[in-house]
Amino acid sequence: MTSAIEKTDKEVFELIAGEQRRQAGSIRLIPSENYVSKAVMEATGSCLTNKYAEGYPTKRYYEGQQFTDQIEILACRRAEALFGADGANVQPHSGSEANLAAYSALAEPGETIMGLALPHGGHLTHGWKVSYTGKFFKSVQYELDAKTGRLDYDKIEGLAKEHKPKILISGSSAYPREIDFSKFDEIAKRVGAYHISDMAHIAGLVAGGVHMSPIPYSDVVTTTTHKTLRGPRGGMILFKEACAKAINKSVFPGLQGGPHMHTISALAVALKEAATPAFQAYAQQIVKNARRLAEKLMAYGFDLVSGGTDNHLILIDLRNKGLAGKPLAKALDRAHIVSNYNSVPGDTAGPFNPSGLRLGTPAMTTRGMKEAEAEQVATWIHTIAENLENESVIEKTGKEVQDLCSRFPVPDLLIQN
Ligand SMILES: *Cc1c(COP(=O)(O)O)cnc(C)c1O
Repeated sequence: MTSAIEKTDKEVFELIAGEQRRQAGSIRLIPSENYVSKAVMEATGSCLTNKYAEGYPTKRYYEGQQFTDQIEILACRRAEALFGADGANVQPHSGSEANLAAYSALAEPGETIMGLALPHGGHLTHGWKVSYTGKFFKSVQYELDAKTGRLDYDKIEGLAKEHKPKILISGSSAYPREIDFSKFDEIAKRVGAYHISDMAHIAGLVAGGVHMSPIPYSDVVTTTTHKTLRGPRGGMILFKEACAKAINKSVFPGLQGGPHMHTISALAVALKEAATPAFQAYAQQIVKNARRLAEKLMAYGFDLVSGGTDNHLILIDLRNKGLAGKPLAKALDRAHIVSNYNSVPGDTAGPFNPSGLRLGTPAMTTRGMKEAEAEQVATWIHTIAENLENESVIEKTGKEVQDLCSRFPVPDLLIQN
């Protein structure tokens, strides 16, 4: 880390250094997190943070765009090529803003949107009631099948026929199975809805060819850039040519002011990285690691929602073990295994003490861990679950975890210890 921060602000320097050590010394299983490359990190911290670029390339409201225009065009062309999209908007500041911009482009306030309910794995911005997406629009929510823990496309179609949404949203933050975007598209076409897919969690898997792409089956695809895709924090919208004008107007001037050009430059770098064979191998390994982790957890008697995983994430339903998500997540964190507690389908416990634990393999895969390490992680989770109150077991496990971490250094993190 640069000593300029240390010189100017010792306090913040120490906190960042602490976070860097935490990231290096723990197994991070939050499925939406990752480690970006040093190149992405450098672009994020570059002089582009100094530049205003309201508008779009060649149509800006400020001068001095000799380099910013080229950077944004490069990011868009790389996104379009990587995902096979007609067009891309790389300006959304986050996944949530990408969603609000996409809905606002295709529906008027008060019209109906239909997405997956939050406790069933949908994102807040898929129309959940506390999100403005659930207030500005009339929101209808579909749920997973209670028995199988899977999407029930017939039920979704029935609900869509009943409510005739203007927009049907596919995509999820906690669904461990492959999503059939073509089925969503058929349903949307039958009821005259736009189909917006939110691939925030799986964008890297789609880029790596290990998940069905939503692009051919969607009017608009929204995503974050920092999850499996392994870019800087941000959002992005990919669209069919027919939606180009509406989407671009909706992002700017509809919702945002100046784009974060430092983030967009880092996204361009990440998209170049994502087009390499090494990235494909990473995407394949994410899925292999998740499968092995899931198998081993089930062998220890953990009940996984839907009975396993097809992608990068696993949702454990802890009710058969008589455990809740939060105490387990907290004990795991003390052992340097970082996860998050989560609702499971049919959860009667509230969102602050839900019955599930959500795990994902992107970050551990980025640091080179493979199936053997995934198995070891399952064993540690089992050990901690059996010893929630036993601090000496937790501490001993934490030491083993840190030993493993030191054998798999985080690529390009500058401080290690
Ligand atoms: C993470 C996520 C988002 C929101 O991303 P932010 O950048 O945190 O706003 C939107 N949709 C889905 C499906 C997500 O998982």
